[in-house]
Amino acid sequence: ADIFGTRKNSMGLNMNIESQSAEFFEKVRSFQNNQWQGGPIVNGKLVETGQRVGVTSPQQSTHQIGTIGWGDADLAAEALTSANAAQVRWSNTDVNVRAEALEKLADLLEENLHELIALCTLEAGKTLQDGVDEVREAVDFCRYYAIQARELMGKGEKMPGPTGETNELFTQGRGTFICISPWNFPLAIFLGQISAALATGNSVIAKPAEQTGLIAYRAVQLALEAGIPGDVLHFLPGKGAEIGAFLVSQEEIGGVCFTGSTNTAQAINRALAARTGALVPLIAETGGQNAMLIDSTALPEQAVTDIADSAFKSAGQRCSALRVLYVQDDIADRIIELLKGAMQELLVGDPIEYKTDVGPVIDGIAKTNLEQHIIDIQHVGKLIAEAPMPDFTNNGTFVAPTAIEIDSISQLVRENFGPILHIIRFKRENLDAVIDDINNTGFGLTFGIHSRNESFAYDVAKRIKAGNVYINRNQVGAVVGVQPFGGRGLSGTGPKAGGPHYLYAFMTEKTFTDNI
Ligand code: NAD
Repeated sequence: ADIFGTRKNSMGLNMNIESQSAEFFEKVRSFQNNQWQGGPIVNGKLVETGQRVGVTSPQQSTHQIGTIGWGDADLAAEALTSANAAQVRWSNTDVNVRAEALEKLADLLEENLHELIALCTLEAGKTLQDGVDEVREAVDFCRYYAIQARELMGKGEKMPGPTGETNELFTQGRGTFICISPWNFPLAIFLGQISAALATGNSVIAKPAEQTGLIAYRAVQLALEAGIPGDVLHFLPGKGAEIGAFLVSQEEIGGVCFTGSTNTAQAINRALAARTGALVPLIAETGGQNAMLIDSTALPEQAVTDIADSAFKSAGQRCSALRVLYVQDDIADRIIELLKGAMQELLVGDPIEYKTDVGPVIDGIAKTNLEQHIIDIQHVGKLIAEAPMPDFTNNGTFVAPTAIEIDSISQLVRENFGPILHIIRFKRENLDAVIDDINNTGFGLTFGIHSRNESFAYDVAKRIKAGNVYINRNQVGAVVGVQPFGGRGLSGTGPKAGGPHYLYAFMTEKTFTDNI
């Protein structure tokens, strides 16, 4: 047995082997001119709605890749009634049946790998490598939660009791989970939430991000094909502030699983509190103001590679991405010099080209906000470097990876969700203030540290309030079952996705006392 026991995470593709990569590129490209059509799926059927929106590509805003229909409140209410009616049956279905359907879904994701990767690049602007990683993570979530559910559910836990009486504790699903997901992991987080809720015997209404409804639509089609009953899983694309807000305001829901911005999580929290219905859990994974600290013993070349990966990979659109780099003053010039060089090497461009390092940001609103931030922050900071932009941009929403030196983290008033890195120099004698500043942001998602002084690294790591701490490596790309992922404070409620305790949050317990 290896470290994963009987389960293995899915394997990637070796792009350096020509025979593997040529076929892969050809298959992904065969979808380049595809026109996808999607819409709400209720009771296993695609529903035609009055509102159909065109879906365009972030790297070429003139290129439409399909259309999607959006649901409305009436349809959401119909889905909820059906989901609730099905839930007890689903919860009492043998856990092996639920787990096998999720494992079948994982197989179908792998079979449809090329189309899903094409959608990741075309609809979400992901690079090919990010697309490969995205599908792998979705597959891993399905298989991991299937195994976890088998271990945790199905059999009762015997409790003590007087002679003649048996006591057993069982776990069950809670009801219908409203699963609301972001665009930045349109397949992995979308299916991570759903597979956890389904594995544990909940019905699901899935509300994808506005920007990435087509990928989500394909995922739901595959889930139904894999054997998830149509009355158990419903799909409701539409505006968050409308359909999402409607769903979380309903009395008859079993819980909400949300990943997205802190503001939206807080709005959902208020909506849940304003209801008079059942008291239900909110599982929220939100944003971060993630820092990395480099002390003077760090290996500069390694640190700079990890800084660039953490801040600029996926165009900085990972919740775990590095935003604020603290560098000890006596090594700062060296790090900044190397970073400038590394940024010149970054290839910004068409995400479907394998050599591309940084694709576009998700849409025009994101581009405008990020570019405004780059202008505003230079009033208090100094521009250090900008990566070169491609000659062609095809009206794409590209933002140049940018590094800016500032004085204090308090100059950042909100999360900037893109390829912008802020750099702050610190003196060793001010370390306590640095740690306080990081903790006082209130966020607590990821933290990175580069140091060859082990006791220093561990001391700092222990004092930082963050959910995931990385020492001497990059701080992105948590792997299912290896680095359980999630934050605290303004960054989320926990439990950690891809970790051994995640499924408990989707369950309720029932004690059976039998005196027959
Ligand atoms: P967002 O909060 O704008 O949207 C997330 C989802 O919520 C979307 O489906 C949206 O339609 C829906 N929504 C919006 N308003 C709503 C409302 N009032 N009621 C119900 N639903 C509503 O976030 P986004 O821009 O799609 O995603 C980016 C954010 O997600 C970033 O802040 C990022 O840090 C965070 N994120 C966190 C994690 C994590 O694991 N901690 C992972 C990925 C992304």
